[in-house]
Amino acid sequence: MKQYDVIIIGGGGAGLTAALYTSRANLSTLLFEKLVPGGQIAVTDLVENYPGFPDGILGPDIAMKMEAQAKKYGTETRFEEVQSLEKKDSLIEIKTARETYQGKALILCSGASFRMLQVPGEKELTGKGVSYCATCDGAFFKDKEIVVVGGGDSAMQEGLFLTKFATKVTVVHRRDQLRASPILQQRAKDHPKIDFIWNSVVEKINGPEKVSGVVLKNVQDGTTSDFKTDGIFIFIGHDPNTAFLKGFVKLDESGYVQAAEGMKTSVEGVFAAGEVRAGATKQLVAACGEGCEAALAAQAYLDHA
Ligand code: NAP
Repeated sequence: MKQYDVIIIGGGGAGLTAALYTSRANLSTLLFEKLVPGGQIAVTDLVENYPGFPDGILGPDIAMKMEAQAKKYGTETRFEEVQSLEKKDSLIEIKTARETYQGKALILCSGASFRMLQVPGEKELTGKGVSYCATCDGAFFKDKEIVVVGGGDSAMQEGLFLTKFATKVTVVHRRDQLRASPILQQRAKDHPKIDFIWNSVVEKINGPEKVSGVVLKNVQDGTTSDFKTDGIFIFIGHDPNTAFLKGFVKLDESGYVQAAEGMKTSVEGVFAAGEVRAGATKQLVAACGEGCEAALAAQAYLDHA
């Protein structure tokens, strides 16, 4: 069984920064990633609020650079999904479908995944006009009309990106006020291709072969109406990727990992950083900062172990 000083679960901003720090501290470091490195930034168009890039940087670019930087100092990456964890004396045993690994310290950076609307037609039409990733699917909607659901930063940022392809983007939001930051709100409101439908939710997505429209419900008067669209992009927030952590570390009522000072979880030698941590600000720069803090805490823990 292969043993490492530090094992990191999740290769987003938090995990890759933690890996950079532990590798540079000469600690043998293994990072698990399910799909591609970068986490949510890998599917973000442009990152405009990471210091040092006044013109912004493409999400996949910064993700690749962060991965290369961690690798340069010795981080090993495995594309395997962690299935279970167990603390055995001072070691943490981690099982994937392929192998079992042991770590002296563990940093949880498994992030969060997009939330689904849970309405009829959504599952069946995913990939056939229903999408959760503008960077991945936007180009399929050249000269088409699309709906974006949500009122947060993701909906505004990705909605703006989608105007590069679509002739019209209609934002459907359940309230009459956006949650997004003022700068993104203003840009979306000023954009000639973006319209808003307020106080409305999507009740159903119509097919049958591909998306042909949505049924909207006005939450104030309860009326429903059909709205024609070629596609629907859903950006209504995230849920933590912690199903595999249930019973291993303490989670809050929403499923996020509880971590005290120094990113310490309820299990000794186990730390959490980034969006998976309860109370995280969910910003890339903060996730990287937390990854650094967790790495330094893991290093201090190993020094005294
Ligand atoms: P979010 O801030 O949680 O916003 C989710 C939006 O979806 C809200 O407007 C919410 O409505 C709506 N919503 C939630 N559930 C819904 C449902 N079942 N049906 C219809 N609408 C629903 O999520 P996010 O936009 O993905 O952002 C997540 C975090 O990442 C935030 O902290 C954000 O600041 C950050 N982020 C930052 C940037 C940036 O800085 N450029 C870019 C992307 C994301 P209500 O408003 O009514 O709750």
